[in-house]
Amino acid sequence: MNTIYMDHHATTPVDPVVLETMLPFFNQHFGNPSSTTHEYGHTANRAVHHARQQIAKLVGAEQSDEILFTSGATESNNLALKGVIKKSKPGSRLITIATEHKAILDTCKALEKEGYGVDYCKIDSSGKTDLVDLEQKITPQTVLISIQIANSEIGTIQPVADIARIAKKHDLLFHTDAAQACGKLDLNVSRDNIDLLSLSAHKMYGPKGVGALYVKQGIRLYPLIHGGGHERGMRSGTLNVPGVVGFGAAAEIARQDLLTEVPRLTALREKLIAGIQNRLDFVQLNGHPTDRLANNVNFSFAFVEGESLILACKPFALSSGSACTSASLQSSYVLKEIGVPDSLAHCSIRFGLGKSNTEEHIDLLIQTLEKQVTRLREMSPLYDMAKEGIDIDSFQWSDHHH
Ligand SMILES: *Cc1c(COP(=O)(O)O)cnc(C)c1O
Repeated sequence: MNTIYMDHHATTPVDPVVLETMLPFFNQHFGNPSSTTHEYGHTANRAVHHARQQIAKLVGAEQSDEILFTSGATESNNLALKGVIKKSKPGSRLITIATEHKAILDTCKALEKEGYGVDYCKIDSSGKTDLVDLEQKITPQTVLISIQIANSEIGTIQPVADIARIAKKHDLLFHTDAAQACGKLDLNVSRDNIDLLSLSAHKMYGPKGVGALYVKQGIRLYPLIHGGGHERGMRSGTLNVPGVVGFGAAAEIARQDLLTEVPRLTALREKLIAGIQNRLDFVQLNGHPTDRLANNVNFSFAFVEGESLILACKPFALSSGSACTSASLQSSYVLKEIGVPDSLAHCSIRFGLGKSNTEEHIDLLIQTLEKQVTRLREMSPLYDMAKEGIDIDSFQWSDHHH
């Protein structure tokens, strides 16, 4: 049987229309968009400008030149954080949360080594930011708040407009990583008072290696890359024109899909959650029950090792956590940060739904999970004890119920 891809948080396939749009820009319209002396350059330049407009429209930016192209959300996050902090006084601080993508967390660590400060705001057991704590964490040295819109492992959606309001009130800049949210939620930087926003094309059916940072007009960032002064001096280097054109096309499609694809995915998500909860005992949904990405389901199946279950669910391509941490046998830091005990975190699977997934896939997945979880639990003495109501303290099962 063909593999059924259900790991759309890790990456998505390039939409056929996007690919079509990109192809002529490899060897037909191959000009350098900075070459203004001939038609090759003008054609490339027009295409880049169009893509900028498509992306600006998707995020509600007022001007297309507020969109800077990068190599992806990792670079955008680096540029946002380092770019703001390095323009600020020595000892400046930023506030974030511990469940951010590594592209934020590792950037924070690097900045701390350089003498800047990072404060981690409290989150609740669903992964949501504690707004009271956020305001208390603000110091006179704080210059930036960076909190993602939605989490790539547990799908939890943050109260971004409220966070932005707090940032405004204290005259701080607000950056948000929208790599997972883009195409799933109605983004609007103007409405929500967002100063900086990171995007990645390959999370929304565009090509890999291209992303963007929305930079509100008037904000100047210290550049990570010096060169010919491209992208308003904040990101030099000749643009990846086919990638940029593909990203623009993907943004256009994503905007149209908000009305049709997102409700469809939400229905599939709810069917999968209900199916698992109705057919299996000792399961726990991780993340927020309702404020979550339309395509995200994350469950702990107690007494079953996540990796074994993934292997047993053969036709499905699934992930046991974030793709980067699943290489090591450490359990997910995101689950740890929301208080899921290690014993349960090791039993967790992330289901990332996408355009190719159908209701039949969900039916088959529920059947497969029921069968395989039951089979794997037959080998678990702990499961027998739990079923008989014996208190299995060591498992800490009672630790974390929503
Ligand atoms: C995938 C992802 C990134 C990294 O994006 P790349 O374009 O792969 O560098 C950053 N943040 C989040 C939330 C992501 O899901």
